[in-house]
Amino acid sequence: MTENPHSEADCLFCKIIQKKIPSKIVYEDDVALAFEDISPKAPTHLLIIPKTHIARLADIEQKDEATMAHLFSVVRTLAKQHSLLEAGFRTVINSGESAGQTVFHLHIHLLGGRSFQWPPG
Ligand code: 5GP
Ligand code: ZN
Repeated sequence: MTENPHSEADCLFCKIIQKKIPSKIVYEDDVALAFEDISPKAPTHLLIIPKTHIARLADIEQKDEATMAHLFSVVRTLAKQHSLLEAGFRTVINSGESAGQTVFHLHIHLLGGRSFQWPPG
């Protein structure tokens, strides 16, 4: 069988949640996991993900509302830990290939430690 990176069974981030693939985990609870991006684009570059497999932001449903709110609460906790609350930070969610999504398990990028341009590329 060929691998389908969009399916839950072949999902890279589900494998990170299951600890089948190593990652530098910075936060974990029953709902969320956060770990360092393997290819950081800023001095702080963390990925915050739900433990349930949701492929894209485009796919969230009403039942995911509490999970999404929790993810942003984790973002705030991690931004505080990295002294970014006053310094400023950027959150990014790419939804779909044309937006730059390459891993199809919803994730919030938390970037900080430098200044950022607007509009993004
Ligand atoms: P996207 O392009 O989908 O918005 O973001 C995917 C992110 O996942 C990229 O920033 C990429 O560097 C990161 N990434 C891809 N593979 C791995 C991996 O195996 N481990 C970790 N920690 N990050 C990864
Ligand atoms: Zn997944």
